[in-house]
Amino acid sequence: MTFQNTRGFARELDSQDTLNHYQDQFIFPKVNDKRVIYFTGNSLGLQPKRTKAYIDEVMNDWAELAVEGHFYAQKPWWDYQERFAEPLSKIVGALPSEVTVMNTLTVNLHLLMVSFYQPKDKRYKIICEEKAFPSDQYMFQSQVHFHGYKPEEAIVEIKRRDGEHNIRLEDVLAKIEEVGEELALVLIGGVNYYTGQVFDIKTITAAGQKVGAKVGWDLAHAAGNIKLELHDWNVDFAAWCSYKYMNSGPGNASGCFVHEKHHNDAALPRFAGWWGHNKERRFKMEPTFDPVHGAGGWQISNLPVLSLAPYLASVEMFAEVGMDSLITKRDHITSYLEFILHEIDKEVKGNFEVITPSNPLERASQLSVFLHGEGRSLFDYLMKNGVITDWREPNVIRLAPVPLYCSYEDMYDFGQILKQGILGK
Ligand SMILES: *Cc1c(COP(=O)(O)O)cnc(C)c1O
Repeated sequence: MTFQNTRGFARELDSQDTLNHYQDQFIFPKVNDKRVIYFTGNSLGLQPKRTKAYIDEVMNDWAELAVEGHFYAQKPWWDYQERFAEPLSKIVGALPSEVTVMNTLTVNLHLLMVSFYQPKDKRYKIICEEKAFPSDQYMFQSQVHFHGYKPEEAIVEIKRRDGEHNIRLEDVLAKIEEVGEELALVLIGGVNYYTGQVFDIKTITAAGQKVGAKVGWDLAHAAGNIKLELHDWNVDFAAWCSYKYMNSGPGNASGCFVHEKHHNDAALPRFAGWWGHNKERRFKMEPTFDPVHGAGGWQISNLPVLSLAPYLASVEMFAEVGMDSLITKRDHITSYLEFILHEIDKEVKGNFEVITPSNPLERASQLSVFLHGEGRSLFDYLMKNGVITDWREPNVIRLAPVPLYCSYEDMYDFGQILKQGILGK
């Protein structure tokens, strides 16, 4: 399709967009009395209007039933998480028994590393990507310390080549080969938070397992954003947060995946708690831990139902929309944004550099752009004029045109505001 940088053309695309009406299901902050153009759904998704009712329901049940709500609430609290199994497993391409929701992301990755990072003898190294999300870096360092290794010996980062912004698949595979029988674990962010690069999860998982390592994924920027087939790709484990693309609210509960092949492995160490114990006998208060079959067996505590409620609202919305139609729009609107950036770049004689891969198979709902020659004042201008984006020093903006609630007209408007912000200085 040949794009045009006009309002009329953008509106035409909106009128053909089958997801366009979902915008009305979200609450947008306002700037100058106008709803904002929201590009930071990769950081904190907008609030769906339906969410409040899910929370109110728990509040009402609590008021009216108090402790009895565990069993007699409209959605009983004691197994509230089971409502996620069907819809969430579809979003990440898993069997219902392979997913659960609990805790928060970094906590879950730590807990999963207890099971899947078992350094022994020669095999103790972890492969991750260079400049991984800081929380992941701290996690790796503390985990290897915990097992008595030095980070500089045990953590192997896959580097970008000089002058390149993204990591090449061939370099990941070569590093896995090279570390070989010293490799205990590969754990990478499925979508890089900074560049938006999408990794080939299937190929990397197979390569890591071929040399005898476990392979897990941090899917913070992938869940609700890219097509995942975690079961078929034979991923050992994964976790993601729910407040980015999944719109469940600040700091909210995390989702976990543990592949079916590990469900019967009694030798796998794990940190246990009563919510992972056999559901039928949980309240018998038995002394011996008998894990729930499946990912649910990794649960520890009583559920934070007030935080699961907004996540459930979101998961049900995703089930309704379906990942396939989300992805179709995602690719189209991202390409339109890329086109707008090129057009504006020409008009302002700028020097924009999109550092996200241009190959649609290696990117999803994010474009990270170097605005060479521009400074923080441009970011301030954008924010003041209703464009909510994210600025990373020295001058990278990350733009996530989230398909559920961003419109093509938003992309057009953004271009005009960007142009004004650069030319009007
Ligand atoms: C957002 C993000 C996190 C956040 O972890 P929390 O434990 O939820 O604070 C972790 N890893 C990656 C890659 C992220 O993008």
